[in-house]
Amino acid sequence: MRIAVIGAGVVGALIARELCRYEAEVLLFEREPDVGWGVTKANSGIVHAGFHDEPGTARARFCAPGNALFPKLSEELGIPFRRTGAYVLAFSRKDLGTLEELAAQGEANGVPGLEIHRREEVLSREPQVNPGVIAGLWAPTVGITLPWEIAIAAVENALENGLELHLDEAVIGVEVSRGKVRAVRTEKGSYSVDAVVNAAGLFADVVSRMAGLDGIELHPRRGEYVLLDETTGDLVKAVLFPAPTPKSKGILVLPTIGGGLLLGPNARDLPGDARDATETTREGLSEVISGAKRLVPDLPLGKAIKTFAGLRPESPQKDFVLGETGVKGFYQAAAMRSPGLTAAPAIAEWLSREIAMDLDLEEKPDFNPTRDPIPHPADLPEAEWEALIEKDPRWGRIVCFCNRVTEGEIVEAIRRGARTLDGVKFRTKAMFGRCQGGFCTDRVLEILSRELGVPPWEVAKARKGSRIIIGEVRP
Ligand SMILES: Cc1cc2nc3c(=O)[nH]c(=O)nc-3n(C[C@H](O)[C@H](O)[C@H](O)COP(=O)(O)OP(=O)(O)OC[C@H]3O[C@@H](n4cnc5c(N)ncnc54)[C@H](O)[C@@H]3O)c2cc1C
Repeated sequence: MRIAVIGAGVVGALIARELCRYEAEVLLFEREPDVGWGVTKANSGIVHAGFHDEPGTARARFCAPGNALFPKLSEELGIPFRRTGAYVLAFSRKDLGTLEELAAQGEANGVPGLEIHRREEVLSREPQVNPGVIAGLWAPTVGITLPWEIAIAAVENALENGLELHLDEAVIGVEVSRGKVRAVRTEKGSYSVDAVVNAAGLFADVVSRMAGLDGIELHPRRGEYVLLDETTGDLVKAVLFPAPTPKSKGILVLPTIGGGLLLGPNARDLPGDARDATETTREGLSEVISGAKRLVPDLPLGKAIKTFAGLRPESPQKDFVLGETGVKGFYQAAAMRSPGLTAAPAIAEWLSREIAMDLDLEEKPDFNPTRDPIPHPADLPEAEWEALIEKDPRWGRIVCFCNRVTEGEIVEAIRRGARTLDGVKFRTKAMFGRCQGGFCTDRVLEILSRELGVPPWEVAKARKGSRIIIGEVRP
């Protein structure tokens, strides 16, 4: 049996990994040159508890179970996950009513440990919070992670278990005959398949239409962010939410895995064709800053090192579209707005079991669920770092001074599939620190050029043609 998964974001990557547990050929198609470069690349990275979602929705069904899978996922795939807990902050009696509704909703969704704390308790735990706060809904299971690292790790692990990965290969057609899926067509060829999973993120409506299905309509909803450097991460311990609006969870302040603070996102609906519109705007960033200051008034904004934006795949039904369809063998993992990252591991387990039952697949006896992360010597005890240098001196040469990333890590990232500057950045955190690559991009580029055996002007930043260097000044 042959199964094609379309889209290597966090959702498609985890589904492909789960499908590799079964006796089947699994093919993963991604139109970008690397995995995790779609919606998965730019979001808040929160592992939500599940109290924001209305009972009865697919979001509510998969969020809390997804959250509960994160410790195991983190252990198996070597990805970062930290339970910080979260507060939803109330500044008025109306907000307090919202907190009570969220607590009841969370209980209905099976979210453990929710408590409403009084002002004094909130301020004793989070002294930087606006003193105008009157109460906070405490959710201890909320955590933070690095979404793109999950996609990278899941694909690496799936490759170990037999996945066939097709990067830089957009699916352009899905062949259906007599109500059953038969093949997928890409820019490079045609592949006969027994099942297809549509995990194409912002483009899941387009892929769905390829199979003759009209039920999904998506448009991008942009969220902009400001990232503060790693000296600011201790200002708050938990993820801080305002009371949500009907449109979004609101503008947040949260600690990041990298040790900084993230402010955002706002929520701006864009036209359906603006699916590459990840630019930030003056208006949007002002909105983010004033929203964040409402929660934490004394934010050290001079420590901002980056602004960026992500696009949510919004649908009129405001819910995930999951599972089997009117076309036999065509399955949806579509309209994956928030909390899609959190829900992804639970959806992957459930959907792969459904497909395995439909196709009568046996489990492989030798599936290996573990993947070793790239070692980061700066986090290791000195003796272990020295042992690495003993084997290869490149593990002792620091290239990115902000995040103390060594040449050994960069070479290992390239060995595991990085072909671009962003590929190295998302695998190692080189160029991800305070200077945002100002001091090390040229060194990383040199290493990529040397290891890949191509001239430096052929090394792309991300997509094909996004070059940093265009040629030699003097031959
Ligand atoms: C601003 C913002 C904040 C968010 N915050 C959170 C949060 O804190 N917590 C949370 O749980 N969720 C959050 N989310 C939601 C979460 O980020 C998404 O649900 C999740 O990343 C979706 O992953 P995906 O794999 O479905 O999509 P994507 O990551 O977009 O992956 C789909 C992939 O399909 C590829 N593709 C598309 N068309 C084709 C084709 N024809 N052929 C081959 N490949 C194709 C794309 O290139 C892409 O790589 C947030 C989203 C945004 C935008």
